[in-house]
Amino acid sequence: MITRRTFGTLAFGSVAASAAGLRAASAAGKGLIGVAMPEKTTQRWIDDGNNMVRQLQDKGYQVDLQYADDDIPNQLAQIENMVTKGAKVLVIASVDGTTLTDVLQKAHDAGIKVIAYDRLIRNSPNVDYYATFDNLKVGALQGTSIVDALGLKDGKGPFNIELFGGSPDDNNAYFFYNGAMSVLEPHIDAKKLVVQSGQVGMKVVATPKWDAATAQSRMDNLLSAYYTGKTLNAVLAPNDNLAVGIISSLKGVGYGSGGMKLPVVTGQDCQIQSVKSIIAGEQTSSIYKDTRDLAKVVVGMVDALLTGSQPQINDTKSYDNGKKVVPTYLLDPVLVTKANWKQVLVDSGYYKMAQLGM
Ligand code: BGC
Repeated sequence: MITRRTFGTLAFGSVAASAAGLRAASAAGKGLIGVAMPEKTTQRWIDDGNNMVRQLQDKGYQVDLQYADDDIPNQLAQIENMVTKGAKVLVIASVDGTTLTDVLQKAHDAGIKVIAYDRLIRNSPNVDYYATFDNLKVGALQGTSIVDALGLKDGKGPFNIELFGGSPDDNNAYFFYNGAMSVLEPHIDAKKLVVQSGQVGMKVVATPKWDAATAQSRMDNLLSAYYTGKTLNAVLAPNDNLAVGIISSLKGVGYGSGGMKLPVVTGQDCQIQSVKSIIAGEQTSSIYKDTRDLAKVVVGMVDALLTGSQPQINDTKSYDNGKKVVPTYLLDPVLVTKANWKQVLVDSGYYKMAQLGM
């Protein structure tokens, strides 16, 4: 272990040094790329932005990285500014995937290519490529994690479950929810999973802005309205932020202490707080999406677009944005539980043990 770490540090040092040289040599080089990210309260977007800047600069591009504070007008202004500055490609993780039609028309008229990053941009013919993790699979893995942790396949049950969805302005949220329901629905139909609140479907379970406090207060309300005298056994939480809010609500009414087991709770993103919670036996699972790999794919697309070659894609049917089916590259998400966190997250170099408090 020590030997590997030492080697890793040395290797990184020398790669960083040569990369810096390369950057200096070609700084004026290959033109400006605009990278528009949604917000900074979810750690992943900070990592995504940093990965994109590092990898684009290493290839000789200048980068304009902007965060929109989860505000639609902010993001529109930032993208317009990138168009004005003469960006050659726009890479956009949208705040609201339905609001960019006009600004993307301007970009298109100026000959600028557009790549949707992680979240599909809807209602625009001017989205050239899309790169993301397989969002349906993310949801299916979350559903499977519930089914496995409850032992439904061994005939156990019935169990009580409540469902949470992501933000309704994020196209991904529907894919996560539908993926999860593809696994959970047969068990709901068989009455092995019972949604005591009856709240099913994105229209009622979505969490605007992916806001943890909103999830927490909805969980509070569900617990007091439907679970006095009943035990909640599982919660579908679409990402780690929401899982944190949900778990804190559950603890507030006594789950996790005095013999009252916390329900199975899913998540996504493998944020440090949630990985620690998985290690401590609280959150049941999360989904690992290596943002370094997503950046690598997108930087490859940028480079291909600007050198006249074909960006790499592996899906031409899943992502219809209402105007076209956007050619897509899908990366593979991985389920993380107490059984495999070390192998998936530490052995891959994504986290160091010390970051996880170990
Ligand atoms: C991303 C998730 C993230 C969520 C909230 C989704 O579009 O795919 O990784 O947890 O947004 O930021």
